[in-house]
Amino acid sequence: MSDCVFCKIIKGEIPSSKVFEDENVYAFLDINPASKGHLLIVPKKHSESLDELGEQEFSSLFAAIRKIARALLESLDNTGFNLLMNSGKDAGQIIPHVHFHIIPRKKKDGLSISSWPFLKFSGDHLQEIAKSISEHIRD
Ligand code: 5GP
Ligand code: ZN
Repeated sequence: MSDCVFCKIIKGEIPSSKVFEDENVYAFLDINPASKGHLLIVPKKHSESLDELGEQEFSSLFAAIRKIARALLESLDNTGFNLLMNSGKDAGQIIPHVHFHIIPRKKKDGLSISSWPFLKFSGDHLQEIAKSISEHIRD
């Protein structure tokens, strides 16, 4: 897509700090990182949601995530990471081109990425929710 920032980065029209590239995937440092080494991993094919990706692009994306996450732990002084995707405006997606964030973590780094409220639902309610989701699962 011609006006997509990530498509421009992949094509080299906007500079980026590239970490990894293969036939289907491009990974680079986030310009406003949450921590040192915060990366974005994107499919080269412009797709707004995961649903638009083919099997090969999907598996390349996850293969790259595994390799890059390992490298992040070995290269910088990190002891963990959060893998995060914002999908849809309501979930905070700003750039409408599929991407995963990998945010390196350290002990007591003060980031609050994984601190959501621990709601309490009854067992019956959980079963109902699980049923309504599982009924929609398809290939
Ligand atoms: P999201 O769409 O998941 O909310 O996040 C988009 C991410 O892309 C943000 O973390 C933002 O800092 C990053 N970003 C936006 N524009 C650029 C850019 O031109 N270069 C780089 N390296 N990152 C960008
Ligand atoms: Zn794009």
